[in-house]
Amino acid sequence: MLSERAKKIKPSPTLAIDSKAKALKASGYDVVNFGVGEPDFDTPDNIKEAAIRALRDGFTKYTPVGGIDPLKNAVIEKFKKDNGLSYEREEIIVSCGAKHSLYNIAQALYRPGDEVLIPSPYWVSYPDQVVLNDAVPVIVKTYEGDAFMLKPEALEAHITKKTRAVILNSPSNPTGLTYDRKTLEGIAEVALRHNLFVISDEIYEKLVYDGVEHVSIASLGNEIKKSTIVVNGLSKSHAMTGWRVGYAAGPKDVIKAMTNIQSQSTSNPNSIAQKAAVEALTGPQGFIDMMRKEFDARRKFLVSELNSIPGVKCIAPTGAFYVFPNVSGLYGKADGKPVSNSSDLALYLLEQANVALVPGEAFGDDNHIRLSYATSMENLRKGVERIREAFGRLL
Ligand code: PMP
Ligand code: GLU
Repeated sequence: MLSERAKKIKPSPTLAIDSKAKALKASGYDVVNFGVGEPDFDTPDNIKEAAIRALRDGFTKYTPVGGIDPLKNAVIEKFKKDNGLSYEREEIIVSCGAKHSLYNIAQALYRPGDEVLIPSPYWVSYPDQVVLNDAVPVIVKTYEGDAFMLKPEALEAHITKKTRAVILNSPSNPTGLTYDRKTLEGIAEVALRHNLFVISDEIYEKLVYDGVEHVSIASLGNEIKKSTIVVNGLSKSHAMTGWRVGYAAGPKDVIKAMTNIQSQSTSNPNSIAQKAAVEALTGPQGFIDMMRKEFDARRKFLVSELNSIPGVKCIAPTGAFYVFPNVSGLYGKADGKPVSNSSDLALYLLEQANVALVPGEAFGDDNHIRLSYATSMENLRKGVERIREAFGRLL
């Protein structure tokens, strides 16, 4: 008999779709995979070399639970340089990926019955991490017309005596949109007035386009900084998804609790990956710009192609590497079997067009589908033509 907790959650749908697409590919199907949310670039050589050096030097033992000092120092420098935020080492924790930092936050902050506000569309793990910690996810719908930003009034309208925290994600997975400074100021004001924690997931910070400025809500003033835990990591910025290094910055007592939790669960993040992460943060940064430019070209191509397909409406994202087109115009149409929601549509594309993507339902918005453009231009061209053809058969 499993625990109630285990029974209440599902596997990460994004990871599940990725495994399915990879398995189909391995068994000989020519699948175009728009499902996966990880850079298709390899980790830069200077980072790999740092890891090899660490191995050769025998840096293979336990490290301090919350990360080695040189890595914490590099993280502190990053916050100073990129976000104008100053932290001390006791305000930083390094974990096994940003997902792990987020989980530690959930363990450290949520009490049974606490409500945690999550704007939808949301990244798949936020609600389940809340549930795993006996708290209650409260989904706050956001609208395409507002660029999927949580409006301060909508935040305030959902606050009760039990509200503990709000989770923000800019640039956003799955919408690819970014919050502007003014909206963040409004959210900060409401959060402070109601004594809420703000959990700000900024993992796509480096991937912004069209001259958009990434703003960390923690940088908007000393008071909001004291209530915010910023989460970031190297998976997306340095193409290091498999290395599992992420970090968080926040109030000392919260970070200390997270570190205690980590010490009783995973211990330190991998020692070799930590050395690689120091190089990633302190070595040459040209790779990020190269990757960003490539993503930008793909983004423009994909948005324009998708908008030329009847039944599809796609607003241009300003960050991350996802597009989140509205496909509700296709619901009710049929190619044999009728398609009535985003899961039907994703299944139809997988079975009839060999295209893998994630149904919007996984992110709490059934009118959309998510495509990751962290795949080659050649794949994008091939995939888009398959989608055009398959949607044409529906209409
Ligand atoms: N937050 C968001 C919004 C993400 O898309 C991801 C990607 N999986 C993560 C956190 C977790 O990243 P990591 O690989 O560092 O655990
Ligand atoms: N963040 C990526 C995605 O959304 C990786 C998958 C995951 O960690 O769930 O596709």
